[in-house]
Amino acid sequence: MLGWLLAADLRDPELLAAYARARELLLDYLRRTLPEFDWRLEADERRVYAPRGALDPVDLLELGVAEKLHRHWDYVLVVVPNELIPRHSPSALGVPSSALEAAVLSSARLGQGEELAERLAALALHLLGHLWGLDHAASGPMRPVSGPEELRLEPWPPEQLRELRQQLAEAAASRLEEERERWGALAFYWRTFSKDPHGVIESVLGYAPWRLPFYLGRLTAAAAVSVVYFLLTADAWELGAHLSWRAVWLLTLLALAAATAFIFSGQDLGRLGREQAWREQLARTRIVLLGTLALGILSLWTGLLALSLAGAWILPRSLLQSWMGLAPSAAHLLRYAVFTAAIGVLGAALGGNLEEEGEIKAELFFDEET
Ligand SMILES: [Zn+2]
Repeated sequence: MLGWLLAADLRDPELLAAYARARELLLDYLRRTLPEFDWRLEADERRVYAPRGALDPVDLLELGVAEKLHRHWDYVLVVVPNELIPRHSPSALGVPSSALEAAVLSSARLGQGEELAERLAALALHLLGHLWGLDHAASGPMRPVSGPEELRLEPWPPEQLRELRQQLAEAAASRLEEERERWGALAFYWRTFSKDPHGVIESVLGYAPWRLPFYLGRLTAAAAVSVVYFLLTADAWELGAHLSWRAVWLLTLLALAAATAFIFSGQDLGRLGREQAWREQLARTRIVLLGTLALGILSLWTGLLALSLAGAWILPRSLLQSWMGLAPSAAHLLRYAVFTAAIGVLGAALGGNLEEEGEIKAELFFDEET
C-alpha cells in the first residue's frame, strides 16, 4: 500500500490533473510489471506549505512519516510543486529515505501536462526503487537521474526485477506487531533486529556512517578543539598519565555511549511518528539510525585518536616530562591519546547539538539527492 501525500496548498487545476495522471501511470506500471502484488495507491493531502518558495526535504519527510503511520501506509511519497533545498548537490528533484520508508518529490522542474505526469511517475518509481533497497543500474528505472529530460517509465532489467520481487515479498511478510499485541520495549526491538539482522546492518552501512564527521563540521570542530586543549594542558597530562588502562577504556565506552544517546535524544531523532504503538517499521528505523549514529561517533573517535597521537608525538618529550612528573613511555602517550579522544567525543556530543537540527537528520535520513 503506497501513500501519495500532497503537502502544499496547490489549487492549480492543470497541475492537480497532471498529479492524478502521474498516480495513474505509476499504479498502472506497478500492476503491469509486478502483478503478483496487490498494489494500491492512496492519495491524501496536508496543505501545510504555500505552493511557492523552496522547501527543506527533512520537514517534508517528517510530515510524510507522520501521515504514513497514521494511515497505515507501507511507503509514502510526499509531492510538492516547490523546489527542494539541496544540501550536497546543485539541485534536487527528489530525496528518498529508506530509513524512513518515505520519499520527497518536487515537480518544479518537470515541465507540464502529460510530460510532467510521466516524468513525475518515473521519478516516483526511481525513488521507490531506493526505498525498496535497489541500487543504481545501467538501464531501467534505477538509471541515475541526471536531468528531468531523462525521466521515462522504462521496464525493469530482468535481474533487478528478480531482486525487487524478493525484497517486496520479504516486506509483505507479516509485520511483527500483528503477531502479538503487547511487547516489552527491549524484547520488541530485539525481535525486530533479529528478524533481519543482515538487512539492518546493510542499511546502516549503506549510510556510510564514517562520512558523518566530515559533514557535521561544528560537531567535529568542537571535538578537535577539546582534543587540542587537552594536549596543551599540563594538569590534564598529569591526570592522564596516572590513569589506568581500565579507567581509560571505561571512560571511552561511556563517552561513546553517552555521545550517541545525547545526540539521538537531543535531535529528537527518536520521535518520528505521532503514534505510540509498537510499529515494527518505526522500531527498525530507530535501530538503523542509532546504529548509524553510533558508528559515526566511533569513526569520529578513531579520527580523534589519530589526531591526539600525532599531537602527543610532536610535543617535546622534555616538556611532557615536566608536565607529567615522569618520563613518558610509548604506552603513556597511547593511553593519553585514548583518554583525550574520549574527551573529544564528549565535546562532540555538546557540539553536535549546536549543529542545525536539520543537518544531522539530513545526513542520517537521505539516501541521495536525485
Ligand atoms: Zn537514485
